[in-house]
Amino acid sequence: MTANELFAAELKRLEDSKTFKYETALESAQGGVVQVNGKKVVMLASNNYLGMSNHPVVRKAAIKGLTRFGYGLASVRFLTGTQTIHLELEKKISKFLKTEDTILFSSSFAANVAFFSAITNEKLGYETYKDVIYSDRLNHASIIDGQRLCKAEVVDRKIYNHADMADLERQLEEDKGKDYRIRMIATDGVFSMEGDLAPLPRIVELAKRYGAVVFIDDAHGIGVCGKTGRGTAEHFGVLGQIDFIVGTLGKAIGGAAGGFISGSREMVTYMRQKGRPYIFSNSLPPSIVCGTMAAFDLLQKDKSIVRRLHDNTAYFRAEIVKLGFRIIDGTHPIVPIMLGEASIAQDMSTRLLKAGVYIKGLWYPVVPKGEARLRAQISAGLTRSDIDRSLVAFKKVGKKMKVIG
Ligand SMILES: *Cc1c(COP(=O)(O)O)cnc(C)c1O
Repeated sequence: MTANELFAAELKRLEDSKTFKYETALESAQGGVVQVNGKKVVMLASNNYLGMSNHPVVRKAAIKGLTRFGYGLASVRFLTGTQTIHLELEKKISKFLKTEDTILFSSSFAANVAFFSAITNEKLGYETYKDVIYSDRLNHASIIDGQRLCKAEVVDRKIYNHADMADLERQLEEDKGKDYRIRMIATDGVFSMEGDLAPLPRIVELAKRYGAVVFIDDAHGIGVCGKTGRGTAEHFGVLGQIDFIVGTLGKAIGGAAGGFISGSREMVTYMRQKGRPYIFSNSLPPSIVCGTMAAFDLLQKDKSIVRRLHDNTAYFRAEIVKLGFRIIDGTHPIVPIMLGEASIAQDMSTRLLKAGVYIKGLWYPVVPKGEARLRAQISAGLTRSDIDRSLVAFKKVGKKMKVIG
C-alpha cells in the first residue's frame, strides 16, 4: 500500500468505529453565545471559563501590544525574542502563583515536553544515576509525551491508579530504599474527562514523607479553581507547597495560546538553558503577551468574574440534576452528563446543537465503554438566561430521547 492508502484505511477505521473527530466551524468569536450554521447557540464546550477570549479589555490590550511591540519576534527567546513585556508577564504570573519565577512557552504542551526530559536526561554531576516519576494514570497526553522523551536507562516511569493515594503510597514505600537521584510525583490538577481534582493535600504530604518533589499541570485549574482563581492548589490550601506548576494561557486566561512553568528560581533559570522547546522554538507574540497580562489583571481586579464562574457552575449542576440527568458530582465547571451508550451521546449532541446548544460528547476509547457522556463546560461568560436557554433545550431533547422522564 502507498502511504496515502494507509492513511485512507486508518481514516475509514476511525469513521467506522465512530472515533473520527469532526470539526464544527464557528462563524463568530468564542464566547458564551457563538454562531454556528448561521444560528446563535449557547456555548457549553469551550475552555473559555472566565469569558475572556473575546473580552473587550483583553482585546484592547492585545491590539495595543500589536501596535506598540509589533506582530512577531522572528526569534527564539535567547536570541532576539525577549521583549520587556515577556519578562513582565513572567513576573506577573510568579506573583499571582506566589512562586519565585516563571518561564513562558508557546503552549503548555511545549512546557511539558520541555520539562521532564530537561531534568532527567542531564547528568548534573552524577556519573550513574536514576530518577523516578510517579504519574497519575489519567494524566494529560502532553505529560505522557513529555516523559516519553526521558531516556529509559536513567528514569523509571511509574503509573499509579487515578487519584489512588494508597497505590501511590505503596509505590513510594516500595522504592524507599532505592538510590534515586530525583523522585517526582506528576499529576494534572484537574482531570478533564471527569472534572475531578487531584488530591493535592495527600500528594503534598506523601511527597514530604518520601522526599519527592511535586509537579502539577493545572491547565483546567488556573483561573478556575480556588476563591481567587489561583488554581487547584488554592482550592486545597496548598499554594506555596507545589514545587512545579504548569499552566496554560490557552484556556481560562484569555484562551489564545501559550503556557508556562512556575516554581523555584533555579528550576526556571535551568529550563531557559535546557528546555528544548524553549531554546529551539519561537517566543510568544506581543499581542498574546499583552492580552494575557490584561487577563491576569482583570482576574485580580474584578473578583466578581471568578465568583460568577463558580455561581454559574453551581447553578447549572443543580438544575441539570433537577431535570433528571445523571452527572459526576463535583465543583468544577466541567460537568460530565452521563449517558451510557456512545450512540446516545452522539445523537444528543447533534440534537442539542439544533436546539441551540453547542456541546461535545466523549465516548470510548476516550472514556471507558458504557460511560459515554456529554461534557458541559460552564463559563463566567454565560448569562443566567444563556444557561436557562440551554436547560430548556436539555429538557426538550432529553425527554424526546427518553434519557429523562
Ligand atoms: C489543555 C491542556 C494542555 C495543553 O494546553 P496548550 O497550552 O493548549 O498546549 C496541557 N495539559 C493539560 C492538563 C491540559 O488540559
